Amino acid sequence: MNRIFDEEKGGRVLAFGAHPDDLEVGAGGLLARLAEEGAQVTMAVVSVPNRAEERTKEARAGAKIIGAQLFIVYEERQCRVEDIPMHELVRRFDALVGDVKPDLVITHSAHDLHWDHGLVNRATVSALRRTPCDLLAYLSSPEMNAQSRSLGQCFADVSVSIDKKIEAISAHKSQLANLDLDSSRDLARALGRLSGYAYAESYEALRVRI
Ligand SMILES: [Zn+2]
Repeated sequence: MNRIFDEEKGGRVLAFGAHPDDLEVGAGGLLARLAEEGAQVTMAVVSVPNRAEERTKEARAGAKIIGAQLFIVYEERQCRVEDIPMHELVRRFDALVGDVKPDLVITHSAHDLHWDHGLVNRATVSALRRTPCDLLAYLSSPEMNAQSRSLGQCFADVSVSIDKKIEAISAHKSQLANLDLDSSRDLARALGRLSGYAYAESYEALRVRI
């Protein structure tokens, strides 16, 4: 097992996703594994862009399967991430980082092709300017993984949590037409072949203390 993640046993993990289901698809396996190993995992979803009540309920179900606390950063209003001024987003992330005091933060990759996801990456990096924690970045969909570059700098073994990951993705029932569960499993298997695990997720290590 990768020693980076051994350090997080019993630690605090804060994961950012722009929208409901991003975290389950991109990092659900690692989050479920860390929760299982005793970490306190917080899934911060920045915005629910539509069908707020239904999608919030789905996000709660997904987080429950993973074993995480769900925090919706903009619960009071339905909005798109790009409509939020960057300084305001950073201020909210600052407050959350101050509350959680994370040992490990997981956020969108700067290479993610979705504009909102890139904004969340920028806000996360900025909010961590004074917090000495590890920082990993993920891509939120198999299609983007196929298109993007420079991922695979590190791999997380998700063999024990792949079923939970797929179950957590399935909790987003309103999005199932767009979510290819077979692709998620196939990708984890392909990344596992590359890294020597049965199933894996790939991350960019943006800041790692060893
Ligand atoms: Zn998204």
